[in-house]
Amino acid sequence: MRRRSLLKGIAASVVQIVFRPRWPLQAGVTRPITRRVRPTDPHWPGANSWAKLRAAVGGNLLEPQPLFAACQKDAKSAACAEVLGNIRNPFYIGDQPAGTEVSGWLDAWKPAPSAYAIAARNATDVAAGVSFARQNNLRLVVKGGGHSYLGTSNAPDSLLIWTRAMNKVTLHDAFVGRGCEGRVAPISAVTAEAGAMWIDLYHAVTTEAGRYVQGGGCTTVGVAGLVQSGGFGSFSKGFGTAAAGLLEAEVVTADGKVRTTNACTNADLFWALKGGGGGSFGVVTRVTLRTHPLPEFFGFAGGTISAHSDPAFGRLIQRFFEFYREKLFNPHWGEQVRIRPDNVLELSMVCQGLDDGEVTRVWQPFFDWVKTVPELKMTDVNVGARPARSWWDVVARKKRGSTAMISDPRPDAPVTHAYWSGDQDQVGAFLHGYDSLWLPAKLLQGDEQVRLVNALFAASRIKKVELHFNKGIAGAPAEAVDRTRDTATNPTVVDAFTLVIIADGERPSYPGLARPAMDTAAARNNKHQIDLATAELRKLAPDAGSYVSESNYFNASWQKAYWGENYSRLRAIKAKYDPDGLFFVHHGVGSEDWSSDGFTRLRRDGG
Ligand SMILES: Cc1cc2nc3c(=O)[nH]c(=O)nc-3n(C[C@H](O)[C@H](O)[C@H](O)COP(=O)(O)OP(=O)(O)OC[C@H]3O[C@@H](n4cnc5c(N)ncnc54)[C@H](O)[C@@H]3O)c2cc1C
Repeated sequence: MRRRSLLKGIAASVVQIVFRPRWPLQAGVTRPITRRVRPTDPHWPGANSWAKLRAAVGGNLLEPQPLFAACQKDAKSAACAEVLGNIRNPFYIGDQPAGTEVSGWLDAWKPAPSAYAIAARNATDVAAGVSFARQNNLRLVVKGGGHSYLGTSNAPDSLLIWTRAMNKVTLHDAFVGRGCEGRVAPISAVTAEAGAMWIDLYHAVTTEAGRYVQGGGCTTVGVAGLVQSGGFGSFSKGFGTAAAGLLEAEVVTADGKVRTTNACTNADLFWALKGGGGGSFGVVTRVTLRTHPLPEFFGFAGGTISAHSDPAFGRLIQRFFEFYREKLFNPHWGEQVRIRPDNVLELSMVCQGLDDGEVTRVWQPFFDWVKTVPELKMTDVNVGARPARSWWDVVARKKRGSTAMISDPRPDAPVTHAYWSGDQDQVGAFLHGYDSLWLPAKLLQGDEQVRLVNALFAASRIKKVELHFNKGIAGAPAEAVDRTRDTATNPTVVDAFTLVIIADGERPSYPGLARPAMDTAAARNNKHQIDLATAELRKLAPDAGSYVSESNYFNASWQKAYWGENYSRLRAIKAKYDPDGLFFVHHGVGSEDWSSDGFTRLRRDGG
């Protein structure tokens, strides 16, 4: 039956190319294979077709040029000076149709502009683009904030649907999803169009309205991209993932229909959008997220502790994890510590719901212990708390001389647009390698903690190891755990106390940007070191999952790593709403049926 509907679909499509593969198929298997068209193919839409699409989207059809095209053309031009001047500005990069927050990944992907891009204004524009791509058998790409590490929001020879201009944010006192009337109680919520960045929501929800919404840590990440990732912010240990807070999403599916999804309407698709990965199920045009009462205070604990010898560093890590288990493994504390090969422990932790005195009292015993060990030295210790309402208040921060956030320096930029200075190094970074894994909370207990400390020490001999405690939901309140469990993210996330990230790269390497030649041998060796360090930690948790959006491009068992036992359910939902695989991203649900560039269908439904 599946085969019959496939043949029917092909007959109905006048431009879909069917050909026999050159490689041998299994005996008796005669599956048709489809291939999307490129601008060089005779079936690529003609000028008239593009003109009609341009008219349908109000003229907002662009032909994007590479980010550094102006510099390639004339290195002395004003246009080249503008892009060079903004190379460290994530807002500027996000505003360019060919902009990508990272500048590529060694042996994996490099930024490439689409042939055409729709700068969508609303769901109608998005639906026009989706239908055009389907009818003309085009490779379709969706981009919001452009922060994909895996390069899934850009592809050459594609049509891009770009949601950047859709960024309206609306607050609700009493939201009820469509179709849920009379079935669920109204709650306080915020609706954001898909292209909004988290700073836009934090400004509206926290600075202006005095409430809290669970989003991402990096303020320039796109709302729809992060929610579909699962999505973690500094305080996720208190509130769960961003996906766990999703109440409703509007989405344009492959058939061009604009659908409302929530717990009562299209509930299967709604669940898939909660962590099933961006760009795989449709184009999300808006999301509605629950808001929470704002804690009175947000706090922080930072500093560095260096050890004069390996044994002293080992003891420091051991003591830190005893302290973590006793005092920090709870809904209050998130963010990071970094364990470095040069025997330095970097503290970069934040908390919610504790005042200045409470934060100090939590950390004092640990700092007192450090002071008793002559081989340890503490520097730049900074501990405290501030009214939560001013956390993302860019203007107030500026007034008090804080340098923690950097504003978009362009003269016409909104004064509310700023990013954390700690995220600066990631802007334009070129990745050599990247991996992540969730470590189960049982590793904090008894003898297991010894194994944990030994493995972290061993891994840190090879590369810097980052522990993102806010990206493991063990230790969160039961409500946050339950809501996170009801998402598509690998269920191991709720048993994990941390996500470990080991990654490295170098300065921007956008195509067309003049820079010294890359030492690729050294870069490949760097990737190899990342693999070795990660392998030390996989010994602790061989089946550890990995966070889809912060993960290894080359992960061979990505289905299991990103979604675990949820994968088969996601595949069924994909087959229902996108049977012909219009939505393709690298290592996205159903992508195993396609060639790595998303142009050639190799098989149907994994068969
Ligand atoms: C510097 C940096 C910091 C980060 N910080 C965090 C963090 O603090 N917490 C965290 O959890 N993650 C973080 N991430 C990962 C980030 O959440 C994901 O990469 C996320 O998917 C980015 O969304 P985007 O819209 O910005 O990116 P894009 O590159 O535009 O999109 C990412 C993916 O989502 C798809 N997508 C985007 N918009 C839509 C839409 N409207 N409908 C359907 N599909 C869509 C794209 O096709 C693509 O596959 C960070 C990444 C970077 C580069």
